[in-house]
Amino acid sequence: MTNIAIVGAGLAGLAAARMLKQAGRDCIIFDKSRGIGGRMATRRVGQLAFDHGAQFFTARGAAFKASVEAWLRHGQAASWYEDNFVGTPGMTAPARSLAAGLTVEANRTVTGLRRDGPGWRLLFGDELSSQFQTVLFAVPAPQMVPILATAGIIFPQVEPVRFAPCWALMLAYDTALDMAEHHYRSREGVIAWAALNGHKPGREAIPETLVIHANPEWSRTHLESEPPAVTELLLAAARQELGIEAKPVYSAAHRWRFALVETPAGVDCIHDATLQIGACGDWCLGARVEAAFDSGEALARRVIANS
Ligand SMILES: Cc1cc2nc3c(=O)[nH]c(=O)nc-3n(C[C@H](O)[C@H](O)[C@H](O)COP(=O)(O)OP(=O)(O)OC[C@H]3O[C@@H](n4cnc5c(N)ncnc54)[C@H](O)[C@@H]3O)c2cc1C
Repeated sequence: MTNIAIVGAGLAGLAAARMLKQAGRDCIIFDKSRGIGGRMATRRVGQLAFDHGAQFFTARGAAFKASVEAWLRHGQAASWYEDNFVGTPGMTAPARSLAAGLTVEANRTVTGLRRDGPGWRLLFGDELSSQFQTVLFAVPAPQMVPILATAGIIFPQVEPVRFAPCWALMLAYDTALDMAEHHYRSREGVIAWAALNGHKPGREAIPETLVIHANPEWSRTHLESEPPAVTELLLAAARQELGIEAKPVYSAAHRWRFALVETPAGVDCIHDATLQIGACGDWCLGARVEAAFDSGEALARRVIANS
């Protein structure tokens, strides 16, 4: 029986797995996506690359600072502006660094959980996994709740957690764009954030690439709209709010249904030592990459202390 299954290969799941592995625990990570990193994402389309999820990260606590320093030394991260860092050459680089030596199975969507004697099995649709002693969830809380429900498990700490969605628009141009700064932030218009992706450190500035994030209210209102309609509306907002008249040569909209934590659980992680089930993620502590990392490490420490 493999000791520990971790569901989710974002920063939280990877930070937990790395610490567990360093403590000699046997773990395997399952993720529904093709790659790792979760919302710390880079989409590549031919020559084009877009960080369409997290734009940068800050490092306030000692544990995350130590990891960031290692990434800086190894060229997996760089300082951007003010006290903000980016992964290099894309936002997934730090996740790849954390994943070194870990076992990750991609394209594996966990749909349920089954008790089996002293252990647990995961459901992937109709397929049942081998047995695990411990299962740790490192997915957004609203995606974890229905999976836990299949085994009759409810964590009351999750109840207050709320996420805001975000529509992200990825654009490429065959001419340079004239923006006062390489990044733009506003609390007033439809566009909450925009960044010339290629002008972040460690990226190609040509062709010109722009990532736009709509504000949470607008994203919520248009949550079920089709991507082409969202693209047209956000292009109109870019003309009005950013003064961009050029026509993009590439455009794609991505819906982040669970993007930014609005109300966190207010705990560093959840761990039930009797059930041998745990949960971590940014939603425990706040809407930041560092919060996800800290929550993952907190859960790993809890598991190590209880086994
Ligand atoms: C648009 C946007 C902008 C952001 N900007 C910033 C920023 O500038 N700075 C900052 O610090 N943070 C930012 N964030 C937040 C930051 O990305 C997150 O806090 C952090 O990446 C969360 O990590 P996590 O590991 O908790 O979750 P995630 O990264 O969401 O990882 C969860 C993983 O679980 C997988 N998964 C989900 N369900 C299942 C399932 N059923 N089976 C298997 N796998 C599953 C997913 O594929 C994913 O890989 C932003 C997020 C978004 C979306």
